[in-house]
Amino acid sequence: MNVSVIGTGYVGLSTGVCLAEIGHQVTCIDIDKSKIEKLNKGISPIYEPGLERFLQKNINTKRLSFTTCYEEGLIGSDIIVMTVGTPQGPEGKPDLSYLERAAVDIASHLNEDTIIVIKSTVPVGTNNHIKEIIDKHIADDIKVDIVSNPEFLREGSAIVDTLKADRIILGSNKPSAIAKVKELYSTLNIPILETDISSAEMIKYASNAFLALKISYINEIANLCELVGADVMDVSKGMGMDRRIGESFLRPGIGYGGSCFPKDVLALQHSARDAGMTFDLLSETMHINNLQQLVLIEKAKNRFGELKDMNFAVLGLAFKPGTDDIREAPSITIIQELIKSEAYVATFDPAASNNMEQVINHDNVNYCTSLYEAVENADALFIITEWDEIISMDLFQVLSLMKQPVIFDGRNCLKEEQLLECEKIEYYPIGRPNLL
Ligand code: NAD
Repeated sequence: MNVSVIGTGYVGLSTGVCLAEIGHQVTCIDIDKSKIEKLNKGISPIYEPGLERFLQKNINTKRLSFTTCYEEGLIGSDIIVMTVGTPQGPEGKPDLSYLERAAVDIASHLNEDTIIVIKSTVPVGTNNHIKEIIDKHIADDIKVDIVSNPEFLREGSAIVDTLKADRIILGSNKPSAIAKVKELYSTLNIPILETDISSAEMIKYASNAFLALKISYINEIANLCELVGADVMDVSKGMGMDRRIGESFLRPGIGYGGSCFPKDVLALQHSARDAGMTFDLLSETMHINNLQQLVLIEKAKNRFGELKDMNFAVLGLAFKPGTDDIREAPSITIIQELIKSEAYVATFDPAASNNMEQVINHDNVNYCTSLYEAVENADALFIITEWDEIISMDLFQVLSLMKQPVIFDGRNCLKEEQLLECEKIEYYPIGRPNLL
């Protein structure tokens, strides 16, 4: 099939590359000229494992191309996939302006009937709203059907998630449009749930909010474990062995972040409020998460008192390993708190330092290119993101470089055996009794 993908961010680029990989002819359109220039040279503007290899392979086989021009990018398109951002707007309501603008651009350049698939995460009613915009701007003799197809990929494993998703959700009131989109994905052999548009839109928010809730729940259990002397790692393992609960998203830590969970929980709460309902569980989920992002700072204050003029190493900036995305990352809150306390910060991240430097550019913060440079002379180190490079650091070397052997592990990711081998170490995990 000929497919046009609108937007080449984490979702659009992964989708475009994967659709080309399974044999479709894909043109990706983005308004960001510098992104398109890079992509046309086979360079991925984002860090995502496996993405660049697939990108180059499919450019070479001429199944994948990139343009900033809607007219060129929509020629002969059987299906148009919209993946532009829907960031948080005022009061938590998603900002739909990118989607609306793209809808006008699509409609103004369409020359034939087509199907528009909306992958962007949008509140109930948005697919119909976008259809209305398109209908208003297209020529009278052209017909467009809309299919809601929310995306569930995770950054850091976007390619695998796209090719091996748990399910594909297709929401539409047009069986012929659903049939065509099913054909698009047919070689993937992924279970498909067909539903109406509103339910498809809601499935995405309900899923993300539930995962966020699970994270806040285990974090509260971790905080209680600390108070009563239980070990949250065993508690979560024991809970996860129950198939009714499941083991995923039960890892305690310093709270969720990223471009999806925070904004999607807020957006769902906004939808509930609009519908005349208070969804208190969502407010609590967010409240717990905000406090949890400060848990390592609290631990450091309990240990040291004043943090002024102290040196802290912050290991990991991305909101999770495997990505350079720092949107709503807990590291931002932590570094800002350290700056507020007039402490000095040396950071290391294998992929996200450049992005963070755009957000936090302060004299007290030094972005290091090596983990060992970041820990030099540190009074304590914070582990924020469980990158392999960080989990497998040479702990003896790290401790020998630090001023004081104090580690706050926000991801409980250092191995117990390794910790026990260290002669002098003060180790503060989340929700665990003193291990040493
Ligand atoms: P992103 O910010 O990484 O990318 C959006 C892209 O759209 C950018 O490259 C931007 O230049 C482009 N764009 C904006 N306006 C445009 C226009 N008018 N025409 C063409 N291109 C335009 O966003 P993302 O992280 O890929 O997320 C996209 C959507 O998918 C959001 O609704 C998000 O909630 C949802 N989603 C994201 C993830 C994720 O892990 N990032 C997962 C599932 C769903």
